[in-house]
Amino acid sequence: MSFSIGIVGLPNVGKSTLFKALTKRQVDASNFPFCTIDPNVGNVAVPDDRLQKLTDVYQSKKVVSTIVEFVDIAGLVKDAHKGEGLGNAFLSHIRSVDAICQVVRKFSDPNVVHVAGAVNPSEDQQTINLELTFADLALIEKRRADVEAKARSGDAESAVQLKIFQKARAALDAGTLLSRITWTEDEGALLRPMQLLTMKPMLYVLNVDEGEATKETSGYLPISAKIEAELSEMPPEEAQEYLISMGLSSTGLDRLIVASYKLLGLITFFTAGPKEAHAWTLKNGATAPEAAGVVHSDFQKGFIRAEIARWQDIVELGGETGAKAKGKVRTEGKDYIMQDGDVAYFLASA
Ligand code: GDP
Repeated sequence: MSFSIGIVGLPNVGKSTLFKALTKRQVDASNFPFCTIDPNVGNVAVPDDRLQKLTDVYQSKKVVSTIVEFVDIAGLVKDAHKGEGLGNAFLSHIRSVDAICQVVRKFSDPNVVHVAGAVNPSEDQQTINLELTFADLALIEKRRADVEAKARSGDAESAVQLKIFQKARAALDAGTLLSRITWTEDEGALLRPMQLLTMKPMLYVLNVDEGEATKETSGYLPISAKIEAELSEMPPEEAQEYLISMGLSSTGLDRLIVASYKLLGLITFFTAGPKEAHAWTLKNGATAPEAAGVVHSDFQKGFIRAEIARWQDIVELGGETGAKAKGKVRTEGKDYIMQDGDVAYFLASA
């Protein structure tokens, strides 16, 4: 199971630089707008100290991290909805991702052209959000017009849908992102399959000057794409020294990956033993049989029960035998809701 984050932003804000550092995969970064056309995809391991600790306890031969997928989406420019730049071509790429990472430029380097003439983070952010809003408006308006006629002719279901589309349109008209609205279950059920862009969770990354990467800015994740690019080329020890000299405790990429994972509403559970320590991804709220199904599809069908322990107990008590002796391993049935950090042993019929 893999969840994807689309990296969007105006041209020349550092998207490709960040993406390249994320994946270490060569992407053509250029100083000119509209140069990258195809979306580029990179799978990135989610850093997790807990997995390392479990690996140490079991001396596991193999370690498998969870993964998030980053997609470098180029082509979003002011007035894209009117056909500027690549026009609406980028929209389908954004539709298919689960969440959006919007990169906003704050770094001042005069050698890098700013498409709007000057560095202005909040204006750039508005430009992008407006394009996403226009795209959603077009989609909503089309559906609204479709149901309006049916509602007029007395179709009750269409009348209900019309109200929901009207509510969405009113929000977008007022410049409100659809993700900021609380939707009822029925409203969500109608709107969610439409893959509306402003309904996706969004994370703002502020690409700052090198000296500012430690500054906390409310609502933003500050990163220096330039530092991250340099770090990604260094051997680990050198990178560590460099981080310390910059006054940073972890790389911006680590923070970005972890924040993205949280943004997706994902939790991690583990399976661990001498053969393998494995971190798995689940949607928050998933049940034990669903978790078993992530490990192996047969496990979900034949699910009998799960033995669950907190990762801390497994680490402190030296494995599940020690944890069991202290009563720290619970038996859970098919209704159990998995918790972030659970270590699971599934029992299933063949
Ligand atoms: P994109 O169009 O958003 O993908 O932007 P790129 O990643 O291609 O970056 C555009 C230009 O800005 C390149 O020449 C990068 O080297 C430069 N750049 C990106 N991030 C930074 C940064 O944090 N600081 C500075 N000084 N330059 C950067």
